[in-house]
Amino acid sequence: MSIAFKSEHKTVEVRTAEGRPMSYELEYRWDPLTSRLAVLCPHLKEKWTELYSLRDEEWLQDMVEASRAHCRFCRPTIDTVAARFSPHQLDDELLRLDGVYVFANLFPRTDFEAVITSPDNHYLKLNEFTADLLSTFLTAAGECIKRAVRKSDKLLYPVIGCNYLHSAGASLIHFHMQLSIQEYPFEYLRRLIDSSTRYELAEHTNFWVDLMHGNKSREIKRTNNLYWYTPFAPTGFCEVDALITRPHLLSFTAEDIHDLAEGLSTILRYYHDHGFAAFNFILYSDRLDSEHGTLLSGLQILARPNPRPNYLSIDTWYMPFLLQQAIVLERPEELARDLRTYF
Ligand SMILES: [Zn+2]
Repeated sequence: MSIAFKSEHKTVEVRTAEGRPMSYELEYRWDPLTSRLAVLCPHLKEKWTELYSLRDEEWLQDMVEASRAHCRFCRPTIDTVAARFSPHQLDDELLRLDGVYVFANLFPRTDFEAVITSPDNHYLKLNEFTADLLSTFLTAAGECIKRAVRKSDKLLYPVIGCNYLHSAGASLIHFHMQLSIQEYPFEYLRRLIDSSTRYELAEHTNFWVDLMHGNKSREIKRTNNLYWYTPFAPTGFCEVDALITRPHLLSFTAEDIHDLAEGLSTILRYYHDHGFAAFNFILYSDRLDSEHGTLLSGLQILARPNPRPNYLSIDTWYMPFLLQQAIVLERPEELARDLRTYF
């Protein structure tokens, strides 16, 4: 069954103070699985330049330098302040793997939470995230999942995520990832799982397999078990997604992790070249005991507005946050075309 990509073009006319007519083209797009609505507004690039594609390098550098003095994840502070896992959570109080620390989040928001960081990398420009570095972090997170699930069969839904810089929701500049595992699927994943199951019942095929076959204009690259693409109806700025043809995070091979890290590094370099400094990503999967779920494992990465002295949350105002209707500036097909030259 081929997936339906529904969209509608609209023209909106307004007048300037002098009475000059201004005409704008909008494109409404509905996500082919969940029907979530996104609107493409290319004209906002002019209005949002400073937040979207111009870094304030000098201010950023000063802010980074000032943050080093009292950083909790730099040496020697990290060794005295890092929280420890309880014996119910993990046999180890703290993991140190290839220079990467994995320790408990002192203020958990889910059943199991860990911080993954390296004292050696306080701040990195987005073109300095090498595949080796990202691979070491993801491998350490995977090892932590493996050890945590041995202690509790209630840890079923893992997500590895990252908030980089304040405008992406990070409370610390120091680069770190987070691992959250809970008994119940995160709300977004529940929606994906429910929608994928409904699709499979109706169409007798898997939505994600169908997507990989019918998404040519947004496909970026296929490598081994990974499929990189831009989503038809994005959730945020310059969003890139990946599908990993594995049922869950614990079934990833070292090659899968390497390919993921390679792709992430490439996308971050693209973000750097296009003026961004901040990003979020999530790496998720179906439940850890599923072997043939309807949901493939996935990764979602997007750029966030540049941090500034007077930061404006241009992507988290009421429309995207409460009404859950994303406003994006790039056409996903053009973003995919540009990214193919990076991969
Ligand atoms: Zn630091």
